[in-house]
Amino acid sequence: MSLRLQVGAATDVGQVRDHNEDDYLVDDDLGLIAVADGMGGHRGGEVASAAALEALRVAFVAGAPIDEAVIAANDAVHEQSVADPNLRGMGTTLTAGSFDDEGHVVLGHVGDSRAYLSRDGTFDRVTTDHSLVEELIQAGELTPEEAERDPRRSQITRALGLERGVLVDVIELDLSDGDRLLLCSDGLTTMLSEDAIATFLADEADPTAAAVRLVDAANAAGGVDNITVIVIDVVDDDAGGVDSVDVDAPADEVIPVPSGDEPTQLVEPAKPRRRWFGLRR
Ligand code: MN
Repeated sequence: MSLRLQVGAATDVGQVRDHNEDDYLVDDDLGLIAVADGMGGHRGGEVASAAALEALRVAFVAGAPIDEAVIAANDAVHEQSVADPNLRGMGTTLTAGSFDDEGHVVLGHVGDSRAYLSRDGTFDRVTTDHSLVEELIQAGELTPEEAERDPRRSQITRALGLERGVLVDVIELDLSDGDRLLLCSDGLTTMLSEDAIATFLADEADPTAAAVRLVDAANAAGGVDNITVIVIDVVDDDAGGVDSVDVDAPADEVIPVPSGDEPTQLVEPAKPRRRWFGLRR
């Protein structure tokens, strides 16, 4: 089996904040995709999210599995935080996935950024928020509906960078042709209901257009926070999924790998916020 990912991503500062502390990573060669939502005074939030993604990538390149790569990212952010008084106390969420060409995904997750899976008309959250309101829901003190409007909904109970070491949730998924995975920061999920998000995803086949439409909708709903969206479509070229092949990058632009463990090289259209994937065989 040889699955391929078609990825669209968009990030936006929103309508209220003056800078974007969210960041994302889509690494074609590695099969590594992640979203990070930073926090902290001065430029701390931006530094934390960017530093976490870079350290994640470096650790993953060095062979670390996703959970260890997330811990390496935590420690890198923490070290930088301790070393610079202007960055003290900075932190970030991180939801990161490693993808292989069999459709196997391993997610490492800390904080309240989220992953959702769209499959055959269903739409399900696959991560659990590390947040105060999620704990109150689990304790039976809040309903999910109350939590959506709760003023404490942005308070998180776990983040990268606050101390050395971090507990990482690991979630494994097996994806197949037609599945769509969404990674997003809370700037999306605090502005749009899950039903609304599911509808946007179902109505837009192109992953980049879907990401942009979700960001636009979150902005239209108020855009009180930075918004980041990554839409990941799983494509099986052998299944003849013509509908899922993007006109901007025909299948013959993807260079096949003859054998071995080398990552598939890919041709990337020169467009910002738009990546193509060739998955490792
Ligand atoms: Mn946020």
